[in-house]
Amino acid sequence: MKKNCFVIAIVLFFLVMFIGSRIMRSQQVCEYQSEEFLMDTLVSISTYGTDTDLLKLATEEAFVEMRRIADLTDRFSEGDSLACNASDVSRINKMAGIEPVTVDKDVVNILKLAKEYTELTNGAFDITIGPVMDLWGFGQEKQKVPNSLEIQKVLELVDSKKIILNEDLCTAYLSQKSMSLDLGAVAKGYAVEKAVNILENQGIKSALIDAGGNIRVLGKKDNEKPWKVGIQDPRDTSSLVGILSLVDESAVTSGDYYRSIEINGRTYNHIISPKTGFPVGDNMSVTVITKDAFTADVLSTALFLMKSQQALALAEELEGIEAVLVNADQEILMTSGLIEKVVIK
Ligand code: AMP
Ligand code: MG
Repeated sequence: MKKNCFVIAIVLFFLVMFIGSRIMRSQQVCEYQSEEFLMDTLVSISTYGTDTDLLKLATEEAFVEMRRIADLTDRFSEGDSLACNASDVSRINKMAGIEPVTVDKDVVNILKLAKEYTELTNGAFDITIGPVMDLWGFGQEKQKVPNSLEIQKVLELVDSKKIILNEDLCTAYLSQKSMSLDLGAVAKGYAVEKAVNILENQGIKSALIDAGGNIRVLGKKDNEKPWKVGIQDPRDTSSLVGILSLVDESAVTSGDYYRSIEINGRTYNHIISPKTGFPVGDNMSVTVITKDAFTADVLSTALFLMKSQQALALAEELEGIEAVLVNADQEILMTSGLIEKVVIK
């Protein structure tokens, strides 16, 4: 009898240990990470939680949404731009000066929001910069420094006021022939924010999306501590100028070292002034930290286009916006609200 009790006790002990370890394992926070090349950059999504199947499903759905936005906004979509598989943006461009085009409501939304930032920056930020980008050859095989006559001609085509939107009918129209949209400054941020919405709707509480320097974090890392995100040194991208602590925020950098081109031994960056038609050189990099990736993406490009002190003043003025600028003299400037959030190296 005594022996039986002893055996039962041992069996029970191991049973409890076994069940306990299974519960512990199912509660353990794990990471699911996936990468895809989208919008000309490597996009990585890392999600954290206890249910790996859910992490995988949510991440896959987030990528589906990002791909959808990428397909809508790609201005170099293959073949004839009037083909039914052409992106909304290439159809709008093709129909410039001809007729309005029915587009996805996300496209109307992006255009509407982007137009507001043109006003805020007195015309420096303008998504109708397409003809100027093309003249320089950005995104194409051959590049050149255009002459002043050529620049003059294309600058007449840059004017966001000529983007005519009809929100009820979901149409967009560029009212002058040869105008063209370039959503390079905004589409990534918009796609990242849509992807975060998908993750949230799936119940994910902790995630990080990195779309080529376009960072958005959800919750805290492992649900415990703020995420640490580095700001690259624009003249030595293997080192950092600072480290940010982020929770439920985005940090997006526009830098002269991204996507620059070299012509006759000179480097030209990819952010162009609609006043001069030439790349701007007042900042080496601008990082904007705010709640959502779309605003951070728009504003990092918009502030990059401004003189450093004006950009800093505008960032201070805007609610919920923080910024770190590296100016042309490689000095680091930042908004006052960042003191708690950034460690300068
Ligand atoms: P980002 O890397 O987000 O700062 O965006 C840079 C991209 O914005 C460029 O590659 C162009 O596609 C686009 N862009 C260039 N100049 C301007 C401008 N003045 N206003 C709006 N978008 C621009
Ligand atoms: Mg941007």
